[in-house]
Amino acid sequence: MMSLHTITKPSTFHFLPKKPSRKPLKTLAPIHSLLQYNRKPQLSGETPRVVVITSGKGGVGKTTTTANIGLSLARLGFSAVAIDADVGLRNLDLLLGLENRVNYTVVEVLNGDCRLDQALVRDKRWSNFELLCISKPRSKLPLGFGGKALIWLVEALKNREEGAPDFILIDCPAGIDAGFITAITPANEAVLVTTPDITSLRDADRVTGLLECDGIRDIKMIVNRVRTDMIRGEDMMSVLDVQEMLGLPLLGVIPEDSEVIRSTNRGYPLVLNKPPALAGLAFEQAAWRLVEQDSMKAVMVEEEPKKRGFFSFFGG
Ligand code: ADP
Ligand code: MG
Repeated sequence: MMSLHTITKPSTFHFLPKKPSRKPLKTLAPIHSLLQYNRKPQLSGETPRVVVITSGKGGVGKTTTTANIGLSLARLGFSAVAIDADVGLRNLDLLLGLENRVNYTVVEVLNGDCRLDQALVRDKRWSNFELLCISKPRSKLPLGFGGKALIWLVEALKNREEGAPDFILIDCPAGIDAGFITAITPANEAVLVTTPDITSLRDADRVTGLLECDGIRDIKMIVNRVRTDMIRGEDMMSVLDVQEMLGLPLLGVIPEDSEVIRSTNRGYPLVLNKPPALAGLAFEQAAWRLVEQDSMKAVMVEEEPKKRGFFSFFGG
């Protein structure tokens, strides 16, 4: 693995998905027909799959990823519970547009003030998706709330009358302190979100080591906010560079897309957009790979031909 300190200048690689066959985006067909597969993905691994979405650095897209992958899983026919473990800066409820429906949180469940199913907020758009918040906004992590409490919570979700969900997604807080340790404790696998910049990569590298120390070996990464125009101009690291540095399997590549910000503000995750936004399709594909425990390949493709002439690309 290349050291993070050896990065000097980004190279001119960018990515292509491993299975690139799907209809052009211009068609007005429903989103499922735009996916690269016309079958239901095969759920791999033991359920419930407990997946922590983490990054180290804040603001790289963990919550956006949790919301969009969570709803994609529901759309693909799997049941999912998303736990907002970012206690101090809870905002998954906002991204999902569910903030007015959170009456109870895990803190009340643990205090015996309500039942677990009262704290679970069922999405009206996709009823097999539920949200669970640890505590009220701006509140501190309750005293004594740690990894054990989260393990208890996951066990309680497994033993629900209606059956265990297929996926439990945990939206992790930034940093590597108590909140991070708590959030990763019950997880068996991790999705590491990074952006192609040096600060995010250094944090991602550190977090990878901590996840491995905690026994989480199944770590896949999502490279978010990728701009191919900047990669071509050698102003941004390519996905291949990122993969070489972190040495992790690639779950998805999400382009920089203003629709993400628009959908965040509307509380309407972009995977639900019709027609689908580019980033929405990328999240949907990442969800597909998560289900099948598959990964994609970052490949080297040719440099953009320079304006000097057709043959200049070949070194002329
Ligand atoms: P985190 O949970 O890691 O702190 P968020 O998911 O809250 O990060 O995202 C931080 C900000 O970045 C949000 O305003 C979000 O809309 C924006 N963002 C995330 N991913 C993208 C993207 N692919 N394109 C454009 N904006 C994005
Ligand atoms: Mg967040």
